[in-house]
Amino acid sequence: MAKERKIMCDCGGILIERKMKFEEIETEAMVCPKCNFVTLTKEQADKYVKLKQLHKLIDTERKIIRIGNSMGFTLPDGLQEFGAEVGRKVKIKALSQKSFKVELIS
Ligand SMILES: [Zn+2]
Repeated sequence: MAKERKIMCDCGGILIERKMKFEEIETEAMVCPKCNFVTLTKEQADKYVKLKQLHKLIDTERKIIRIGNSMGFTLPDGLQEFGAEVGRKVKIKALSQKSFKVELIS
């Protein structure tokens, strides 16, 4: 985070940054520890909008296809905006028997 700035809640509490879940999307927000009031700073809101966009792009069903002697699946073109591009290296890690994560590495 850039510069820390204290935001006071109407109840007198000081808002603290915390991870929150909005519509299944986990993002940072400012939360009042006293009354649980939640708000987003402009930076947090921008980040949330981007994240929401990413979820919209990627949270879909896809079919595994054959690519030469391997299997693969396609990625939506819009992912380029998030740094995915042909030639970029990715790290794949198993999370469970049925899920894995794909991480863009530089
Ligand atoms: Zn409060």
